[in-house]
Amino acid sequence: MEIDKSKPVLVTGATGFVAGWIVKKLLDEGLTVHAAVRNPDNKEKIKHLDELAANAPGSIKYFKSDLLEKGSYADAMEGCELVFHTASPFVLDVKDPQKDLIDPAVKGTENVLEQANHTSSVKRVVLTSSCAAIYTDTVDTEKAPGGRITEEIWNNTASLDYQPYSYSKTLAENKAWEIAKAQDRWDLVVINPSFVMGPALNPKTTTSESYRVLKQMGSGAMKMGIPNIGFGVIDVRDLAEAHFKAGFTPSAHGRNIISGHNTNLVEMVKPIHAKYGKQYPMSARALPKWMVWTFGPMLDKALERKYISRNVNHKFTADNSKAVKELGLQFRPLDQTMVESFDALVENKII
Ligand code: NDP
Repeated sequence: MEIDKSKPVLVTGATGFVAGWIVKKLLDEGLTVHAAVRNPDNKEKIKHLDELAANAPGSIKYFKSDLLEKGSYADAMEGCELVFHTASPFVLDVKDPQKDLIDPAVKGTENVLEQANHTSSVKRVVLTSSCAAIYTDTVDTEKAPGGRITEEIWNNTASLDYQPYSYSKTLAENKAWEIAKAQDRWDLVVINPSFVMGPALNPKTTTSESYRVLKQMGSGAMKMGIPNIGFGVIDVRDLAEAHFKAGFTPSAHGRNIISGHNTNLVEMVKPIHAKYGKQYPMSARALPKWMVWTFGPMLDKALERKYISRNVNHKFTADNSKAVKELGLQFRPLDQTMVESFDALVENKII
């Protein structure tokens, strides 16, 4: 599926942490970006994108679009051969999981992909799904065949009541495949990133869960020690490259796990501690599981006991070999990603 680079490319949720670096890559490559955002009049949220466009060969045009408004991506998609659908809420602490997570994820995916069915120029949709559509808890990766998750596996443990964000990503990706398979004019390539770290282009405005966890690393929440939770990590800049390659590599297909490092929260904090340990209240030691069990739920709503038992002291392992081979990916070292993530918080006086 050859994509004509002279045609505009749509990025949904262009204000997001992940989308920012995708937009940058497209602009640097000289492309015209159709940036679909909820509120193009919110200058604070698009300032970084304007600055990127001013310093790159490509250009950007904004469109007002909402995942929950039918037909609201029509103008933004007009004339595009390639669509990057990244928009989806990534927040764990929600009041109403159905309304706050599932509806925008699933109905939004339906809205964008049905629009692709109505827009004759579209040849490929690249969907930002997640490893959360593959597993819920780290223990799931240990129990997977060979002790590692692969593109073959689908999440069957998340629900509306337990880890609804993971449930939202699972349902949304499933819906995307259903719509894609019912036609043959455009193809679907799915990106399944693990936890995204790295410097945000918009550290002040993103509400991404990635940034909530980063802020916790310096806020004192982990000064007693770190829950040893297994994580996969991908640098946001490497993830943007993966999206770009998924868009423009004709043979790209199917699901693609994009994860640079099989690691854990302790290893993620260590390089930040080495640079900032004297300035910020943080520790580089793992907290014993019984302490996480006792105090975790008081410190952080996300640390409910079921989550603790299934994630603390469990090892995360993902098989990233498909995307490495087929998309030709390389990954930044974990230490660099983590330190530069925190640098962005410090430089922007967020922490
Ligand atoms: P952000 O919160 O920074 O970005 C989410 C984007 O979705 C924002 O642009 C937001 O727009 C948009 N959005 C949310 N609700 C709506 C809506 N109703 N209508 C239109 N747009 C909406 O998060 P991330 O950049 O981290 O996440 C981007 C994508 O990457 C998501 O699909 C997420 O699931 C996926 N992902 C993220 C991972 C991570 O670790 N960060 C890991 C794996 C996958 P607005 O600015 O207006 O709020």
